[in-house]
Amino acid sequence: MFGSVPKVLWDRVAPADDLNRIRLRINPLLIQLGDENILVETGFWDQGGEKFEGMYALERDETVFRGLDALGLGPGDIHLVINTHLHFDHAGRNVTLTGEPTFPNARYVVQAQELRDARHTHERNRASYVPATIDPIADAGLFEVVDGEHELRPGLSVLPLPGHNLGQQGVVLRAGGQMLVYVADLIPTLAHAPTPYIMGYDLYPVTTLETRKQYLGQWFEEGALICTPHDPDAAFAKLRANPKGGFVLEGV
Ligand SMILES: [Zn+2]
Repeated sequence: MFGSVPKVLWDRVAPADDLNRIRLRINPLLIQLGDENILVETGFWDQGGEKFEGMYALERDETVFRGLDALGLGPGDIHLVINTHLHFDHAGRNVTLTGEPTFPNARYVVQAQELRDARHTHERNRASYVPATIDPIADAGLFEVVDGEHELRPGLSVLPLPGHNLGQQGVVLRAGGQMLVYVADLIPTLAHAPTPYIMGYDLYPVTTLETRKQYLGQWFEEGALICTPHDPDAAFAKLRANPKGGFVLEGV
């Protein structure tokens, strides 16, 4: 999760177990805008089997479905799904156990680049994509394919955030004079705010660095609420200037 940063440094902020695993969460985001329910991310794939789940020591005490249920909502109440990208830990619950779209009344927003890459994988990215979570949505014509920055609804946009892969997108919501950014794997946890903390998973780490440099200053100036996809403790955070340069994220 920390790429070329030495473990003696990251182990302080994210202590590892004896199999070198650290605590992470999947943090989907529900946006209620007008009379629409908009879901960012669908959750971790649930059909990988025992060995796969054991590798990640998955716990499913909390799921997107329990979260929705607590609000009196079910999958049929979601009008729009935003897939930041199609990796199995982000888009894994796009589809039900029986291969049907999980959110039957929703369109699923994805970048054209990401859909192309997910359906034409190579040896380096193949393990990140599960065709069974992608093909049924494509076959049902439920993908809403966008290309680049795109306003989905007044105040709600998707924004390309390349680096982790080429087709990743973040979500920007502006409402009531405030800004929220779902940063996807550009900044997977609060500990990843310092610019050199870049995941080994990233296909284009230098692009991650450039994308962070392009946006972090702007989001800091605007006082944006930052939502990360994998922080184990704080889904929401604010950027603070680091006296040593760059930024840190503090949970709110
Ligand atoms: Zn991820």
